[in-house]
Amino acid sequence: MEQRVFNFSPGPSTLPLSVLEKAQKELLSYQHSGISVVEMSHRGKAFLEIYNEAVFLLKELMDIPDTYEVLFLHGGASLQFSAIPLNLLGENGTGAYIDSGNFAYQALQEGKKFGKTVCLASSRDEQYTFVPSFSLSGKEAYDYLHITTNNTIYGTRFPDIPDTGTIPLIADASSNILSEPLPIEKFGIIYAGAQKNIGPSGMCVSIIRKDLLGKAREDCPAVMNWTVQAKAQSMYNTPSTFSIYMAKLGFEWLKSLGGVQGIEKINIQKAKLLYDFLDESTLFKGTADPTYRSRMNVTFTTPNSEIDEQFIKGAAAKGLVNLKGHRVVGGMRASIYNAMPIEGVVALVDFMKSFEASNPS
Ligand code: PMP
Repeated sequence: MEQRVFNFSPGPSTLPLSVLEKAQKELLSYQHSGISVVEMSHRGKAFLEIYNEAVFLLKELMDIPDTYEVLFLHGGASLQFSAIPLNLLGENGTGAYIDSGNFAYQALQEGKKFGKTVCLASSRDEQYTFVPSFSLSGKEAYDYLHITTNNTIYGTRFPDIPDTGTIPLIADASSNILSEPLPIEKFGIIYAGAQKNIGPSGMCVSIIRKDLLGKAREDCPAVMNWTVQAKAQSMYNTPSTFSIYMAKLGFEWLKSLGGVQGIEKINIQKAKLLYDFLDESTLFKGTADPTYRSRMNVTFTTPNSEIDEQFIKGAAAKGLVNLKGHRVVGGMRASIYNAMPIEGVVALVDFMKSFEASNPS
């Protein structure tokens, strides 16, 4: 087999080796059918079984009650930035947003195209190093309140999910879905681009409380209309069949590790290894406010961009790849999603220690 490396990419990101191997094994002939998953009809029995199992497993893993609809949609998380106002803006005509990072900001900008928006709190002027706090009086007339549970670029997360009372809470959980238990009943909608903790890119998993269906605007495109998609089991048009199949394999893998509760323990350990080292390091410095540190994306810097570059190059030579921070922030970012084994994090910390020893600051 080709040598694989530890891939710290923020997304598309590393997938479990056993999932890739199973897909490889089944690629030419799915369960002795003589055809591949990518060649079969989405309306056929074999694919419908895959689809139903994927929905079943996700509901089981996240403990999603039947009062929620699970959809596998096109267009990644970003298409939902527009689908949210198109499906939800109603009598109040206003969507509220918490601006805690680049994608939260993009969601807000898209929302503005379709109706009124209010930004209740923002940490933009402080380079998104923390998640801004906000409060609600309970009297606000908002059709929804949108948050981003984990900010992929800045390495921060909501430490607690807020209580928004009767205002439906809409959460972009692209970069921490399935990494820890989420209190489902606090949310109106949880959605997530698949390319971090689920499978290939291009797909979005949307978990929608059923009472939020049926509110879409007349001019909402059918593929983006959750009510249409819910009636059609995500198949108003041809769904991303390969992505759904890969998601199903990923869900099976996660279940075998003890589900979300099992992986959370490992994720806490992985993040602690990195943050404990960052806190004692004389060369590296974590960039996120410790209270809001993400367990999925660990962002850090050295004293200058030349040392950053040397570090990224040196790490790649040791098989620790894709550690460069996002282009808008620079520095480094280690994305340690569910499929990153603890051995990868140990190898990274070991390399950081030896790099520090040879670069005394
Ligand atoms: N939200 C978050 C938190 C993300 O990290 C990303 C992608 N990195 C997106 C939204 C956009 O996802 P997509 O590219 O699937 O549209």
